[in-house]
Parts: sequence; C-alpha cells; structure tokens
Amino acid sequence: MGSRIICQSCGMPMDSEEDFGTEAGGAPSGDYCTHCYQGGAFTAPEITIDEMAKICGGIMSRLYDIPRAMAEEFSKEQLSSLRRWAGREVAICGSCGMPLLRDEDFGTEADGAPSAEYCTHCYQDGRFTEPDLTEEEAILKYAPMVASNLGIPPLRAEEMVRQYLLTLPRWRG
Ligand SMILES: [Zn+2]
Ligand SMILES: [Zn+2]
Repeated sequence: MGSRIICQSCGMPMDSEEDFGTEAGGAPSGDYCTHCYQGGAFTAPEITIDEMAKICGGIMSRLYDIPRAMAEEFSKEQLSSLRRWAGREVAICGSCGMPLLRDEDFGTEADGAPSAEYCTHCYQDGRFTEPDLTEEEAILKYAPMVASNLGIPPLRAEEMVRQYLLTLPRWRG
C-alpha cells in the first residue's frame, strides 16, 4: 500500500521533488503537495471538501471539457477517499483505482487473505483476473464508463483514463 503517490488533500500526482509539500523542518511531506501543504501546515486550513471539489472540478472541467457540475461531483467522489477528507488512508486498487472501502472490495491472495493492493474485480486468489490486460486495453475498457459518467466524448475519456492509470502501480511500470 501507499505506493501510489498522490496528494492526500487534492489528489494531484506528485512525480518530481518540487511537487511535494514541506514539513515544519523543511523536509518533503510524504502525503501532501506543494500547493496544499507548506512548512508543516495546510495552506488553506479552513477549506471544506466541497470547496476543494469546486477548485479541482474547475481545473478538470477546463482540462477535459467536462460540464462543470459533473466535474465537481466527480472530484468530490475522488477527494472523499483521500486521507485529509476520509480521516484515514483509504487504499485504492492499484489496477483500476477503485477505493477499497469495505472488506468485500478487497481482492484475495492465494491463501485467501485479503489483498493489500487490489480490488476483488481485478485480483483473485493471488492473480489478476485479467493477467494479460495491457494498458491500452485497460484504457479502452474503462473509458466508455468514464465517458458516460461525465458526459464527455470517448476520446477525451481515453485521454483522462490514460493519465489516471499512469498513477496506479500496475501501470506505472
Ligand atoms: Zn495537494
Ligand atoms: Zn481493481
């Protein structure tokens, strides 16, 4: 768990050093991005999840041409699995990104124990349910769902899913 490094406040992927926020002593934060967290404190300590969803949704709406209200709703859903808003670290499936909120959401290892990294749809008995799925196939598999959820053209959805999958351990390579 925790191999996917996204800001636990806004969901921004943190790829390079300057993306990370800072702790009080100046060390990089392991959880939060530079926009959200500076010197060991949130830059906007009073912000609510709805306000954050408006900001993130606004960016998404511009980036991907998604109707504003839909983008905000989608953002709020994504934000609600992050530590700042969930109050705990919610694991997400490292293959499809589904939040692992309930026991039955987790996949299983070969010995029947719950998987720490993957959901029940992607991972059963210690193996991927679709072991040969390539990144391109995954994009084509998930994009239609995203397109219809967000009311955006399929090509936009593919672009969005591609960006998103790159943040997940299975596809990050
Ligand atoms: Zn952030
Ligand atoms: Zn999954």
